[in-house]
Amino acid sequence: MILTRRGLMALAGTTAALSALPAFAQDKGSVGIAMPTKSSSRWISDGESMVKAFTDAGYVADLQYAEDDIPTQLSQIENMITSGVKALVIAAIDGTTLSNALDNAAAAGIKIIAYDRLIRDSGSVDYYATFDNFKVGVQQAESLVAGLNERFAGVKPWNVELFGGSPDDNNAFFFYNGAMSVLQPLIDAGDIAIPSGQMGMDVVGTLRWDGAVAQARMDNLLSSNYGDKQLHGALSPYDGLSIGILSSVKGVGYGSGDLPMPIVTGQDAEIPSVKSMIAGEQYSTIFKDTRELAKVTVGMVDAVLSGSEPQINDTTTYDNGVKVVPSYLLEPVSVNVSNYEEILIGSGYYTADQLQ
Ligand code: BGC
Repeated sequence: MILTRRGLMALAGTTAALSALPAFAQDKGSVGIAMPTKSSSRWISDGESMVKAFTDAGYVADLQYAEDDIPTQLSQIENMITSGVKALVIAAIDGTTLSNALDNAAAAGIKIIAYDRLIRDSGSVDYYATFDNFKVGVQQAESLVAGLNERFAGVKPWNVELFGGSPDDNNAFFFYNGAMSVLQPLIDAGDIAIPSGQMGMDVVGTLRWDGAVAQARMDNLLSSNYGDKQLHGALSPYDGLSIGILSSVKGVGYGSGDLPMPIVTGQDAEIPSVKSMIAGEQYSTIFKDTRELAKVTVGMVDAVLSGSEPQINDTTTYDNGVKVVPSYLLEPVSVNVSNYEEILIGSGYYTADQLQ
């Protein structure tokens, strides 16, 4: 059984009683883990993997989800600081809103790790554990183009619409810029058209990564621009948006009769999207092994708390507006129906049954 600090407190009844509990074999103190939301399964996997890895390493983990509400996340972090955690691991909802709390944490000697999403505008962030986010965008666009070539060979230009992630998440810009590094030359060459003309994160961003918002925007794009045109593809940066986009296009007849499904990308290899890929709807996703990210993060915390240098592999990319945050970047993997068994089931991330 995994016991979080909150779980222990519930068992013990009060914080005071917590200190009277017997120490674990190795008692290294507590760590606060602030995750954005349970509405997306990837963050649930992240949280579970971290609680396990921290517990195995001798820490007590206090895992909190904020359901995408910024004040809730802030107060969770403030409570963690007050409760005396030694380190904070934070996947921020809005990467710019935590500066004061983090300055207080740093002043109290608490180490701060930005988890997956960069925390911006704060000099108090110690390290950043993430994936190569620019590469995620490159892989999304490469798979979009591969799908267009496969399903719509001989059609040019391909009509494509672009979706971006949440503009308060630094990653969204890396995904978009990575994707555009592949798509812009094809747009310039006339191979890809954007019939709506909507380009740039200020126009295509999707606040809070909300699938319903993406679905509504796709509905509007289709009704305003596709009266006499066929949509061939949509760049989607996240599986939750892809599901919304696919609902929208299916609603006007794509995927049936003589209207093939457009190529729709994604990210996170969430189960509904993998099932959608197997069913021939979503074309691809990007797998980011959250077990590995958790392992790297726990290693970072353990190193920094024991006074040694954590392993990092990037000291130039992630400028948060105050400092370049030393980072460890993991490799994302592009997945489609041809390799999902090897990548997702072969690695033990999912069982075959989960994808039935
Ligand atoms: C993460 C993605 C995720 C998105 C929405 C981003 O910060 O890097 O993996 O799809 O948030 O939750």
